[in-house]
Amino acid sequence: MAAEIRTISEKRTTKAMAYDPANVFARILRGEIPCKKVYEDAHTLAFHDVAPQAPVHVLVIPKGAYTDFDDFTARASEREIAALHRAVTRVAEITGISGPGYRVLCNVGANGGQEVPHVHLHVFGGRRLGRMLHSA
Ligand code: AMP
Repeated sequence: MAAEIRTISEKRTTKAMAYDPANVFARILRGEIPCKKVYEDAHTLAFHDVAPQAPVHVLVIPKGAYTDFDDFTARASEREIAALHRAVTRVAEITGISGPGYRVLCNVGANGGQEVPHVHLHVFGGRRLGRMLHSA
């Protein structure tokens, strides 16, 4: 098991070197592009998606430079990983979707449909969200 974890981690280190500091979320983190902030702490920023797909559609991102979910889980500290998850709960509370319920989604890579190469969690709510996946 330990060897397997090391192998994944090594692969992700290579992938992490490809992090593009010009991606749109890196630019938001540097304050070069505005965002509609919902929540922020030492490790995490959450802001409204520019093209919302639900009445509430918030993106939760770590402040560190991680390309995708696998890169994040391989290289981020326990504190950063916990912060990202707790930030989702805070966002749900702040936006009023905790009670009625909501969805958390992370697109990873080409098949996942990830467009921005800085790991992010989508938080959707404000209406019944229907089936988890539409058939292709
Ligand atoms: P994904 O397909 O998972 O990579 O999702 C990227 C998301 O980022 C999309 O939902 C976009 O609408 C959103 N997005 C792109 N640029 C911005 C921006 N400047 N501010 C807020 N959301 C953005």
